Amino acid sequence: MSSEAPQVCIIGGGPAGLSAALWLHNLGLRVVVLEQAVQAGGMQHLNFLANDWVLGQPGLTGPELAKRFVAHVAEHAAIRLCCGCVPTRIARARHGGFQVGLSDGEMLECAAILLATGTRYRAEETVAQVGGFAACRERFAFGPHTFRDLDRIAGQRVLIIGGGDNAFENARFLLARGCHVTLAVRSALRAQRAMRLAVEAEPGCRILCPARLRDVVTGSGEIIATLATAEGQALVDAYDRVHVLAGYQPNTSFLHECVELECLQSLIFDAAGYLKADAACRTGCPGFYAAGDVCNVAHPCVVTALAAGAQAARSIELDLRTI
Ligand SMILES: Cc1cc2nc3c(=O)[nH]c(=O)nc-3n(C[C@H](O)[C@H](O)[C@H](O)COP(=O)(O)OP(=O)(O)OC[C@H]3O[C@@H](n4cnc5c(N)ncnc54)[C@H](O)[C@@H]3O)c2cc1C
Repeated sequence: MSSEAPQVCIIGGGPAGLSAALWLHNLGLRVVVLEQAVQAGGMQHLNFLANDWVLGQPGLTGPELAKRFVAHVAEHAAIRLCCGCVPTRIARARHGGFQVGLSDGEMLECAAILLATGTRYRAEETVAQVGGFAACRERFAFGPHTFRDLDRIAGQRVLIIGGGDNAFENARFLLARGCHVTLAVRSALRAQRAMRLAVEAEPGCRILCPARLRDVVTGSGEIIATLATAEGQALVDAYDRVHVLAGYQPNTSFLHECVELECLQSLIFDAAGYLKADAACRTGCPGFYAAGDVCNVAHPCVVTALAAGAQAARSIELDLRTI
């Protein structure tokens, strides 16, 4: 590859960022990927179950799939993958393109930036206001960690907070292991129809909607939880564990600290913080692109992230032809 080829800086080494890296490399551009974690691969490292949604990769767990993505990119020595590294400053360069300051002190010059930082699961902040939470912390699990070691908790009484696909999937796995499950849903049931029907049909399951976790206390080896229901009633029951599945939020807040004002003002975020990008992955800031879950509220998954990475690479290559 020519050292004269324009360089693209990808922020985030999950499926979207790695897919874009491969495509950009194959299209003849120089690529550097910045990944904040010690290993690339993204959120699939937290998917402890088989991911049967990726064509041609049946039976692989999330971490196995992530390793394959990383290994494929690693076959190309020209793709520079910097783990444990985040951008600390992004500014317009004098000749166009960008200057990117890195957490290790290096200053990169690049012709384009692709944001592929994905999302993160909501954790303790969602129950911080629940009375008594701090004293019961060890009986709570959050997000992906509610799917860990499920056989170990077979037969237990589990309170699930959440009403989306993840909450219902968690219920399904627990019910299959003889657990007694209560789902407390704050506003509306948002899970896929098939998943909801499967869970609702199970005798060991109770669904309360709307219901809000008000307070918790530890009893003798159990947790006593009070749920506030629609009628203003308080429902008090004993559980062994509480699983919180309160959705995801985009990793975009760091941009407000490190992107210089001129660029930041042309980036558009929705109310939840997702960065807006068009179907070709272009944002409001010329030369700044976005792909994957960080800008995809509608259908975040591995396959859409891989496809968006490829699309972003194509758009970048087209736009850089003129420089
Ligand atoms: C438990 C769980 C199970 C799932 N199961 C499935 C499934 O079965 N099938 C399916 O298709 N999808 C599944 N998903 C969703 C899938 O993992 C995501 O849709 C996909 O990983 C999105 O890819 P991405 O590259 O957009 O983002 P991510 O995978 O989130 O990758 C983003 C990367 O950016 C990095 N990053 C963040 N901020 C910065 C920063 N400031 N600087 C540098 N790097 C940064 C992160 O560390 C991360 O590595 C699951 C997700 C979870 C959590």
